[in-house]
Amino acid sequence: MLSIKDLNKTYPNGTKALNNVNLEISKGMFGLLGPNGAGKSSLMRTIATLQLADSGSIEFNGVDVFKTPEELRKVLGYLPQDFGVYPKVSAEMMLNHIAKIKGIQNSSERKAYVADLLNKVNLYKFRKRNLGDYSGGMRQRFGIAQALIGNPKLIIVDEPTAGLDPLERNRFHNLLSELGEDAVVILSTHIVDDVVNLCTNMAVFNEGQVLVQGHPMELTNSL
Ligand code: ADP
Ligand code: ADP
Repeated sequence: MLSIKDLNKTYPNGTKALNNVNLEISKGMFGLLGPNGAGKSSLMRTIATLQLADSGSIEFNGVDVFKTPEELRKVLGYLPQDFGVYPKVSAEMMLNHIAKIKGIQNSSERKAYVADLLNKVNLYKFRKRNLGDYSGGMRQRFGIAQALIGNPKLIIVDEPTAGLDPLERNRFHNLLSELGEDAVVILSTHIVDDVVNLCTNMAVFNEGQVLVQGHPMELTNSL
């Protein structure tokens, strides 16, 4: 359970990105729906402890994430909106490298773990291909594989489907739904359909504020 209380954030240039945000998010798929500039990325980055809030608190399973960010990062999988890849490195090499850093020392164990991840995101067939030659959808799925190393319990995915074709989007969505069975998954998006089709709970977010929170069916009927 992720519990966000009275969260505020104003950037040095005076932009108030988070305005008294309160959210309770339990296991499953949660959709954060809002237009560009609403503050979604700011909220995602703050939950991921990549930036501090000015005031308020965030607890994950009762643990204050600002007090012990290293504890949160152990259970966090974060897929930012724009993430860079090394174009001349294969998916397999990259995942292997990260798995090593994350502490899977035994090389045959690591190999099996990476193969399993590649299968999960449907990239096993393309594991030797350089990341620079991946399509947009393949790249997103690689991003998810990267975020899943270490079996996170809190998965944050920021505006993931921009530039994906319908088939790729579908695949990506199926993958996210599976993850929601065992973790808190937060999907930030400006696409109403994505939230309605995928999420068990949602919030409508604008100008740094939560306008409403509830079940997608109930909320979208009143949109
Ligand atoms: P969204 O993800 O919903 O598009 P953002 O969190 O990126 O929203 O942005 C919210 C507001 O904060 C916007 O007005 C944006 O221009 C501003 N903003 C975002 N990041 C920064 C930053 N690092 N410094 C100053 N302003 C920022
Ligand atoms: P997004 O809105 O796509 O999530 P960002 O959060 O990076 O992406 O940026 C959102 C907006 O905030 C953009 O319009 C960007 O120009 C502005 N922004 C981002 N970083 C800064 C910054 N350090 N200072 C001022 N504005 C920023």
